[in-house]
Amino acid sequence: MTNLSIKQRLEGTDPLFSIEFFPPKSDETAVQLLRTAERLRAYSPDFASITYGAGGSTRSRTLKYARSLREDYDYVVMPHLTCVGHSRDELKSIIAEFKDAGLSQIMALRGDPPKGETNFTPHPDGLSYANELVELINEVYPECVLGVAGYPEKHPEASSADIDLLNLKRKVDAGADFVTTQLFFDNAHYFTFVDNCRRAGITIPVLPGLMSITSRDQALRFCDMCGTSIPAELDAQLLAAGDDKEAVEAVGVEWTYQQARELLEKGAPGLHLYIMNRAKPAVALMEKLQAAGFYK
Ligand SMILES: Cc1cc2nc3c(=O)[nH]c(=O)nc-3n(C[C@H](O)[C@H](O)[C@H](O)COP(=O)(O)OP(=O)(O)OC[C@H]3O[C@@H](n4cnc5c(N)ncnc54)[C@H](O)[C@@H]3O)c2cc1C
Repeated sequence: MTNLSIKQRLEGTDPLFSIEFFPPKSDETAVQLLRTAERLRAYSPDFASITYGAGGSTRSRTLKYARSLREDYDYVVMPHLTCVGHSRDELKSIIAEFKDAGLSQIMALRGDPPKGETNFTPHPDGLSYANELVELINEVYPECVLGVAGYPEKHPEASSADIDLLNLKRKVDAGADFVTTQLFFDNAHYFTFVDNCRRAGITIPVLPGLMSITSRDQALRFCDMCGTSIPAELDAQLLAAGDDKEAVEAVGVEWTYQQARELLEKGAPGLHLYIMNRAKPAVALMEKLQAAGFYK
């Protein structure tokens, strides 16, 4: 894969392409992740990120698969880290483990409350917001490249988009190198968000996060959780595809393709794909984007 750091790639002129995995919970789903990793190597992703579960439940699995993607599949890997359930000292030791594993980029997040809880409660000796995690990582691992989350349709807990933006600025001021956005299906949200970021003095790259829908029910659940809206036109196409799984996937890929085209044509620094550990929709999308000349 690429030898350039994520930061260098984001500063270049060619659009970046990255994918997001989640750590599998069983041997069967582990096989799926590794097969997907193998298959997507053909498209030379600039990096693969791997999520971190609520309450630290996937702490060891995030590191295990981050190592595997790096060592066995030659990916540049960006593990995620959240503040949920961890003291400052625990966070420091996880950061040290990431460093020892040769992982030189981290997605720094506050995290969602663990299952069954509605509000985020910080660990008594822990951190309350992602900007504090950015500060902590910079303190103990200053050479690490740091990504943070941004919300084109506002974080669900934020009382307004302006306040959410001020809070994003805190993460940037603490030393974040780039923003990856929450998924969105209407590019207008991304373009307005980037304009607002620039007006607020946030000048770092804002990498758009996209997901090809493979199931309407699953998409509705996700969107409800993360405050993303589904345009009426997309929903109508999904409803028309009904129970035909192939037809739903085709709608998802075509929608993402049209989003990707417009984003890249209008200067987005690349694409981050929420692939849900599945290769097929990402392969279909990348084939189309390569055929259209957006990627080599
Ligand atoms: C790209 C991406 C990757 C993700 N990966 C994971 C993952 O691996 N694991 C996981 O559990 N979740 C993940 N999430 C979900 C994320 O953890 C949730 O959206 C979470 O609710 C907020 O995390 P954050 O880092 O954006 O928090 P923060 O930036 O801390 O923001 C949380 C809320 O607090 C407000 N806020 C922020 N800072 C301050 C402050 N200093 N004072 C007052 N208010 C403040 C914000 O406006 C926002 O409403 C991811 C989200 C994205 C977009």
